[in-house]
Amino acid sequence: MYSRKKSFEVVPEEETAIWLCTNDGCNSWMRDDFSFEVVPTCRQCQSPMVSGTKALPLLVNTSKNQKDLKKGVQIT
Ligand SMILES: [Zn+2]
Repeated sequence: MYSRKKSFEVVPEEETAIWLCTNDGCNSWMRDDFSFEVVPTCRQCQSPMVSGTKALPLLVNTSKNQKDLKKGVQIT
């Protein structure tokens, strides 16, 4: 089980698929987990976003399971 009291442990990072805003003046990005099959638009400046990767702390296993579920069941 995940415990918040262990937050001082070193959190491993993983290259994670994300969406990046194409607007040079905007540093907005979001995890691919939270997007849909279509290319999202930036919530801050409405520019189109491009897929990329970013080193992010690993999430607890449940979110990986959710992503697997989403890939297995095509929801549109
Ligand atoms: Zn933006």
